Amino acid sequence: MGRPFLEYVKDGSTKYTCRCCSCDVASSSGLVWQGVMGAARQPAVLLRDTVNLEPLGDARSERLSSGRYTLVDVTCRGCATILGWRYQEAKNRDEKYKEGCALLQISLLSAVDMEGDSDVDVPCPAHRTAPQRSIATQC
Ligand SMILES: [Zn+2]
Repeated sequence: MGRPFLEYVKDGSTKYTCRCCSCDVASSSGLVWQGVMGAARQPAVLLRDTVNLEPLGDARSERLSSGRYTLVDVTCRGCATILGWRYQEAKNRDEKYKEGCALLQISLLSAVDMEGDSDVDVPCPAHRTAPQRSIATQC
């Protein structure tokens, strides 16, 4: 297997990268909201205009607190870590804006300041001392 083709984020002052392999995932300008995901209520960000995310397996229908959705898990193209899921379809009309957006676990991402090229505050301070590997594969 050769090195996977990776895309890069160019716009925005801050970008999200995969914490595991540092490849670009999204620009902060694509941030829709921060919240929590799933039954485990993991801190997460909803992003549009993501790069380097590959769907994993078949889409599934799932009932979340805000309604029923068709979801598909997404993995990092660089290291195959499952970072979250993408909303393929929202049944609830008020939630249609989520379609095509990806909800990713904050603990699996790094926020990189593109001007200073240094890590800025990721809204998950606990992660710095205790990395969560619950759904991540080992790097
Ligand atoms: Zn990665």
